[in-house]
Amino acid sequence: MIVVENLTHQYGSRLALSNVSFEVGKGEIFGLLGPNGGGKSTLFRILSTMMSPTAGRAVVAGFDVARDPAGVRRRAGVVFQTQSLDKSLSVEENLRSQGHLHGLSGHVLRERIDRAVKQLGLGDRRNDLVESLSGGLRRRVEIAKALLHRPQVLLMDEASTGLDPAARRDLSNHIESLRSEDGVTILLTTHILEEAGRCDRLVLLHQGKIVAQGSPDELRSRIGGDVVVLKSANTAALTQGIEQRFGLAPKIMDGQVRVEIKNGHRFIAEVVEAFPGAIESVALNKPTLEDVFVHETGVSIE
Ligand code: ADP
Ligand code: MG
Repeated sequence: MIVVENLTHQYGSRLALSNVSFEVGKGEIFGLLGPNGGGKSTLFRILSTMMSPTAGRAVVAGFDVARDPAGVRRRAGVVFQTQSLDKSLSVEENLRSQGHLHGLSGHVLRERIDRAVKQLGLGDRRNDLVESLSGGLRRRVEIAKALLHRPQVLLMDEASTGLDPAARRDLSNHIESLRSEDGVTILLTTHILEEAGRCDRLVLLHQGKIVAQGSPDELRSRIGGDVVVLKSANTAALTQGIEQRFGLAPKIMDGQVRVEIKNGHRFIAEVVEAFPGAIESVALNKPTLEDVFVHETGVSIE
């Protein structure tokens, strides 16, 4: 449903996207995960036809974004990072004016609004002014608005940024049901690990390049073991000691020593014994998507 081939984008001399390729199948929930400046919004702008790429090709729902942007816009719903609602109008009024932009009116528009409002759980709020709604409800109105022309693909840029964890989970549930009920293909960008973990597949973007792609489970299994995090008054000495003694390559992250290793529990016993008094605390973690990102790039997402 989405094909991205060797996409590259430069703003002047700044390379924001470099040779990015991936495909998204029908009905998939696909995530672009990466830190600030990773290139997520640049890719989103190209897919939503706001901007032409410097090089490469992207096809959305069968239409080339550069050659047939109008075709893409007919088939794709777009939710921008910044809010696009008129706060002094009601939910229904916002949806109605969006419908008019798509040339919808009368009972067709009414049915589309009824359905969108129901899908996003906004039924009892449709006459409320947008300014009276919470951040989470507003995002749901934005999505309802993007669905009025019944797109096959929904593109969302950081839709859950600024929401609390409960509102974020709620949004994820609604997105999930759009896919399961209507088969909508969803591409979202995020820097939030939990949200990324709920996608079917992901690409990890760092400095405009894909550093890894796969399902969350596939990505986590790349670490091939556990992640042990050690706190010490002298991280540099401990890191060096572990390198020499165990032949491992620990990393210092956020002032702590981080080691990727199979059978972490055994390593913990050995390392505590090897460096008596040097370790203040020990954590044994199953790898997270953050660990995968650190593994691939040496830096943290957040
Ligand atoms: P993300 O959405 O992952 O935070 P962006 O796509 O916004 O990343 O940015 C990728 C890179 O491109 C960054 O280095 C950013 O500073 C740069 N960039 C983004 N938008 C512009 C712009 N309009 N003009 C110049 N540089 C930009
Ligand atoms: Mg962005």
